[in-house]
Amino acid sequence: MTEKSEFDSPMLRTALAQLDQTASRLQLDQDIHERLRHPRRALVVSIPIRMDTGRTAVFTGYRVHHNSVLGPTKGGLRYAPDVDLPEVSALAMLMSWKCALMGLPYGGAKGGVRCDPRSLSRHELENLTRRYTAEIILLIGPDLDIPAPDMGTDEQTMAWMMDTYSMTQGRTVPGVVTGKPLIVGGSARRREATGRGIVYALYQAARRLGQELRGRRVVVQGFGNVGSVAARLLWREGCVIAGVSDIKGGIWNPNGIDIRQLEAHVAESGGVGGFPGTEAISSTDILFQPCDVLVPAAIGSVIRGDNADRIKATIVAEGANAPTTPEADVILRDRGVTVIPDILANAGGVVVSYFEWVQGLQYYFWRESEITTRLQEVMTRAFNRVWALATKEGTDLRTAALMEGVRRVAEGYRVRGLYP
Ligand code: GLU
Repeated sequence: MTEKSEFDSPMLRTALAQLDQTASRLQLDQDIHERLRHPRRALVVSIPIRMDTGRTAVFTGYRVHHNSVLGPTKGGLRYAPDVDLPEVSALAMLMSWKCALMGLPYGGAKGGVRCDPRSLSRHELENLTRRYTAEIILLIGPDLDIPAPDMGTDEQTMAWMMDTYSMTQGRTVPGVVTGKPLIVGGSARRREATGRGIVYALYQAARRLGQELRGRRVVVQGFGNVGSVAARLLWREGCVIAGVSDIKGGIWNPNGIDIRQLEAHVAESGGVGGFPGTEAISSTDILFQPCDVLVPAAIGSVIRGDNADRIKATIVAEGANAPTTPEADVILRDRGVTVIPDILANAGGVVVSYFEWVQGLQYYFWRESEITTRLQEVMTRAFNRVWALATKEGTDLRTAALMEGVRRVAEGYRVRGLYP
């Protein structure tokens, strides 16, 4: 991956800059550092599908394996209008560090299809998912690469992927994807795992900072699978959820929003806007409202060099992948804001994906309580390791989390050596 190539993009430049800084802090072997800068393989596919109008439309899809040195690759599949190869490559790299940091036996991967899923019918989405799966089928499998939901995809997407893969094999293969519906081998608690993991990470952060979560004022940007669950669980913990937003806009009430009632409103009206007793606010301005905890759980690069000084929260828990740019990181650090980085804060999803995969391989399913207890253990252990390393090295949490994730992957490369 040279700086000027088909892989050039702002998000990938950020991921590479983070890797380069981490490598120099770790005094990483130069040859291993060079290998880590390149994805192992990347596939670009055309996805022709029959639309409801009867015409054929062709979409572009990607699947990137960053590395598989610690095990099969793992990572989500996103459907978004601006997805491209370098973005998917950057996100695959982040998955490598995330899986290694959490101690999972996985390498990093990511997939994407450039489309606006909200403008497609259910039938078109099914066609798109099945044809995409067929096109990347050589790259996926329960011991090769295991997709999962990400932005714009969900349990249904995973069910179609699993079915398409299984039909080509002539048998049912539950371990090829995670985040499936329960009835076909999904795991209890997978859907809410990312949001739940954020709460466990926040609980630890608050404890270390000598605070209690209860009574803290929280703003959540994004009310999808991650943001809505984080908001609900934090509300149940006694936090005051003062602001929430979705793609169409946000709502604000400094005295707190009843999240159960809000969920009913969203189910009825399709968005958070117009919820009684709240003031309308844009989904960007919500980031700058006065609060203790901010959970950006929507899209990437929302906290940037040009707005980071307006953030009022003292703790930021990154529900989205890469919501903070490196310039913003420096500003937040200098202002004493504690940022729980994406590869730690939102890792609950891939942790329970791992539990689902293990259960699927064994055809033996665990109780809900077993899953939540184990998730809490894994999140708490990872948080404590990152906190201890940050304290020892005098760094912020992102630097420490990257150091731990990159170090483990690099160690895998060192002991395995270079083939041939
Ligand atoms: N898409 C999620 C992430 O970015 C989950 C990936 C997975 O479960 O494999 O971490």
